[in-house]
Amino acid sequence: MTARIHQWPVRLLFMLAGLFPLAANTAEWPDGAKIAVTLTFDLDAETVWWNDVDAMTGNPSSISHGRYGPNVAVPKILAVLEKHNVRATFFIPSWVAEQYPGAVRQIAGAGHEIGAHGVKHISPLQLTREQEAATFAESVRVLGQISGKRPVGYRAPSWAFSNETLKLAARSGFLYSSNLMDADEPYVHDNPPGLIELPVSWVLDDAPYFWFDEDSWNKTIHSAASVEAIWQEEFSAAYDNNGYLNLTMHPQIIGRPARLRMLDEFIGWMKGHEGVWMTTGSSIAVFIRGQQGRSP
Ligand SMILES: [Zn+2]
Repeated sequence: MTARIHQWPVRLLFMLAGLFPLAANTAEWPDGAKIAVTLTFDLDAETVWWNDVDAMTGNPSSISHGRYGPNVAVPKILAVLEKHNVRATFFIPSWVAEQYPGAVRQIAGAGHEIGAHGVKHISPLQLTREQEAATFAESVRVLGQISGKRPVGYRAPSWAFSNETLKLAARSGFLYSSNLMDADEPYVHDNPPGLIELPVSWVLDDAPYFWFDEDSWNKTIHSAASVEAIWQEEFSAAYDNNGYLNLTMHPQIIGRPARLRMLDEFIGWMKGHEGVWMTTGSSIAVFIRGQQGRSP
C-alpha cells in the first residue's frame, strides 16, 4: 500500500510530461512539414584568394580554383537541384556577379534565390561604416540589375560582422540575415527589430571538411562519405525535433565530382522522408515573419 502511494507522484509527473512534452521545440512548418531545409551556396569565385584586394592579385593556381565555382560547378549544381526539383539560395558578392553575369542569370532563371554577400568579399571589420553601407547599396543595385530581382537575404563575407552590420542590412531593406550561430532554428531579431535570422553552423558547412589550406597544409581533406554521415546525423536530429537544417556550401568546394555525387544522394535521402520542406531562405524568412513567435 505504501509503495502504491509513493508511485502516485511519479505517475502524476508522467501524466504531466505527456501533457507538456519536454521537447521545447513547438515549430510548426507549413502543410504539416516535419523539417525545413535550406541549401545555400556562397559563390565566392576568385574573391577569397586575393592577396591584394585592390590589385586583385593572388596565386594564379589558387585564383583558378575560384574560377572553378562559376565556370564548372554552378551548371552541375543546378542540374542536381533540377533533378530533385529543389530551389536553393546563392549568396553572391556583387563583383562576382559582374564578372559572371551568365552564371547569375542561369541561377536566377532556374528559380533560385540570389542573396547578397558583400562586394569583393571583404570582411566588414576592415571597412568604415560608410564603406560597409556602400556595399549594401552596391549589392542591391548590381544583383537586382543582373538577376532581375532585388536581394532580400544577406550573408556576410566569411560570416564576419561589424557592430553595424545587422542594422545596415535592415536599413538597406533586407528581410533576413544568415550569419549567426546562437540558435538552431530561425528567429526574429529584437535589434534591429523584425530582421529574421536563419542561423548557420560550422558542422553544416562544407569548408571545414573539404577546404585544403595550401599555405599551411593545416587542414585535412575528408571523404565525401564521412561528411554525408555527419549531415545525415544532423538532419535526423532536426527532423525528430520539427527543426531546421541550413547547409552552407561553396560551389568551388562542393562542386568536385565525388562531393557533388554525395550532395545528390544526400538531397535524395532527405527528400525520401515524409514532410520535408526544402526551399529558399526568403521563403523561410517570409514564413517566420508571418509567425513572429519563434524567437528562442
Ligand atoms: Zn564567402
